[in-house]
Amino acid sequence: MSSPFDICIRGSGVVGSTLALLLARQRLRVALVGQPAPATDVRAFALNTHSREVLSDLRCWPQPPHATAVQSMQVWGDAGGQVQFQAPTFNGLTHIVDVPALERMLSEAIHFQTDIQRFDAPPEATLTVVCEGRNSQTRQELGVTYHSMPYAQHALATRVLCDKPHRQQALQWFSRHQGELDILALLPLGGHGGQEAAVVWSLPTARALALEQSSADEVSDALTQASQHVWGPLKVMASIQVWPLQLAQALQWSGPFENGQSWVLAGDAAHTVHPLAGMGLNLGLADVSELANVLKERETSAYWRALNDPYFLRRYERARKAGMQSTWLACDGLQRLFNHPNMSIQQLRNWGLNSFNQFNTLKLWTMRQAMH
Ligand SMILES: Cc1cc2nc3c(=O)[nH]c(=O)nc-3n(C[C@H](O)[C@H](O)[C@H](O)COP(=O)(O)OP(=O)(O)OC[C@H]3O[C@@H](n4cnc5c(N)ncnc54)[C@H](O)[C@@H]3O)c2cc1C
Repeated sequence: MSSPFDICIRGSGVVGSTLALLLARQRLRVALVGQPAPATDVRAFALNTHSREVLSDLRCWPQPPHATAVQSMQVWGDAGGQVQFQAPTFNGLTHIVDVPALERMLSEAIHFQTDIQRFDAPPEATLTVVCEGRNSQTRQELGVTYHSMPYAQHALATRVLCDKPHRQQALQWFSRHQGELDILALLPLGGHGGQEAAVVWSLPTARALALEQSSADEVSDALTQASQHVWGPLKVMASIQVWPLQLAQALQWSGPFENGQSWVLAGDAAHTVHPLAGMGLNLGLADVSELANVLKERETSAYWRALNDPYFLRRYERARKAGMQSTWLACDGLQRLFNHPNMSIQQLRNWGLNSFNQFNTLKLWTMRQAMH
C-alpha cells in the first residue's frame, strides 16, 4: 500500500526545515516531525554564498540587520602569526546571520506551504530523511556506525556590545591559556555601523563550564582580555550557552527500512565539525540542496524511478561524502595544529600564518573555497 507521504523529515532544525521547503516546491507531500524552536539561541551563524543562495531562493534569507556581510577578517595565531582577508566583492566574505531570525523565517514559510504537514511523531513515508542533529535517536535505532571523536573543549556562545563599531569585520584569536588552546571568534551583528557581536569561544571544558556559571561582568572582563581590547571593553548582553564539541561522521548515510521504505541522513545527524571555521550548517545546507537536486531528476529523465530508488540515495551519499571531506579534514587539522603543545610546532604554525598572509594567490583561492 502506498504511504500518504512521499517524504518524512525527522527534525525541524534549519537543515530539516530547509529540506521540507525545497521538496514541497517539487510538489512532494512532506511530513515534518518537530515543532518550531523557541527563540532562545544566542548564536549567529557564518553562512557562505551557497547557503545564502539556497535560503534566498526560498525567500528565507534574513535582511539586515539580521544578516551582516563580513567585509574583512583578521586571525591572530598564538605567537605573533597573523592573517587578514579582504572581501573581493561588495557581497562580503561571508554573512553573519541571527539564528532566531532565520528559524522564524523558515517556520513562517513552512506555515504557508500547504504541501508540508507538521507532526509530533513520524508517519510512514516512502523516504525518511533524518535531520535530528548530532544526537539523533533514529540514527542510533538504525544501528548506523557513527565515528565520533570528542574534543576536550566546549564552545561558549553569547552576544556582546562592543565599545567601538565593528565595521563589518570578523576577528579570531588562537591562543593558549595555562598551556591549553582556546579559540575566540567575534562575529559582527546588526549590519553596517553595528556595535554588537556574536561570540563563539572554544575553551577547555572545565573553563567553559566555570564561565557558564560566572556573572555577566566576569565573562565580559574575560572576553575583553581575550580579545586584547581590539574593540574596547566588551559587555555581555545575552545569556551564556555552552556546547560540547566533537568531530564525527556516520559511516553509512542511507539504507532500507525493513518494510521496504528507505532512510537517509543529513546535516549534523550525518557529520559534525569543530565550529572554528563556522562550517557545520553550511555543510548541512549543502547536503539538503544536493538531495533535492538528485530527487528533482524525477521531473525529467528519471521520472520512472521511485523516490527511494537506491540510484538516488547512493548518488546523494557519494556526492556529499566527497563534498564535505576537505572541510571536515581542514577544521580538524587546524584544531590539532593549534592544540599541539610543542614549541617548534608553535613557531612553525605562526610562521605558516604569516607566510600564508603574504601569498596572495593562495589566500584568494582559499577564500573562494570557503565562500562557496
Ligand atoms: C557554538 C556553535 C557555533 C556554530 N557556528 C556555526 C557557524 O557559524 N556556521 C555554520 O555553518 N555552522 C555553525 N555551527 C554548526 C551548526 O550549529 C550545526 O551544523 C547546525 O545547527 C546543524 O543543523 P541540523 O538541523 O542538522 O541540527 P540541529 O540544529 O541540531 O537540529 C536538529 C533538530 O531536530 C530535533 N530533533 C532531535 N531529535 C528528534 C527526534 N527524535 N524527532 C524529532 N525531532 C528531533 C531537534 O530538536 C532540533 O530541532 C555552530 C555550532 C556551534 C555549537
